Amino acid sequence: MSQIAQNLEEVRRRMAAAARRAGRDPGQVRLVAVSKTVPVELIRQAVAAGQRLFGENYLQEARGKIEALGEAASWHFIGHLQSNKAKAAVNRFELIHGVDRLKLARALDAAAASAGTIQKILMQVNLAGEASKSGTSPEAAAELQREISQLPHLRLVGLMTMPPFLDPEAVRPYFRALRELRDGLQDLGGTPLPELSMGMSGDFEVAIEEGATLVRVGTAIFGSRVL
Ligand SMILES: *Cc1c(COP(=O)(O)O)cnc(C)c1O
Repeated sequence: MSQIAQNLEEVRRRMAAAARRAGRDPGQVRLVAVSKTVPVELIRQAVAAGQRLFGENYLQEARGKIEALGEAASWHFIGHLQSNKAKAAVNRFELIHGVDRLKLARALDAAAASAGTIQKILMQVNLAGEASKSGTSPEAAAELQREISQLPHLRLVGLMTMPPFLDPEAVRPYFRALRELRDGLQDLGGTPLPELSMGMSGDFEVAIEEGATLVRVGTAIFGSRVL
């Protein structure tokens, strides 16, 4: 068994245990294996171990991997996306996690329109107001949701966050806050927002206990990134 296969098994076991602790069905939580900087050979090992869903941060890097893996994998874009790159992202990614401003939403909508598709997106929220991180403020989220709902080629399916880098119990309030924000927006907008993308290698179990449906895990699967 490869190291990656062992790591995947361990991450899946911990995910399922966290879901059960919270009285949730483990089948409701999907693992996004974050493969930024990871070479295609190692991604293939993960595919061989049953992993299908991968997350990438950089379009240029993702492009080659998506072509190389073909039908064997599906992809989420989890990085910061510039509006002028919207065209290159649409249709390549099943879900784009980081939509945090109207300009980007409009660019994605236009790109999806010309591609004749509907692009699924998540709204990224910056809960702690950290200047170093992307994301709309929680206060502005309802307005952005309303604006996105006017864009016919986008489908907003949930929220994503990158909380401050703290130990797992210290980030729990942020995960809970994202879930509560989602519940509020869902009532307000009258459309379901089933997805919560939160939790990484250091804190995915806490995120699952607080309702994550997508956890983005890199190092716990592929080892630390050396660049
Ligand atoms: C790199 C990255 C991750 C994975 O982080 P790990 O700590 O390696 O699990 C998750 N989400 C985003 C947005 C990332 O950029």
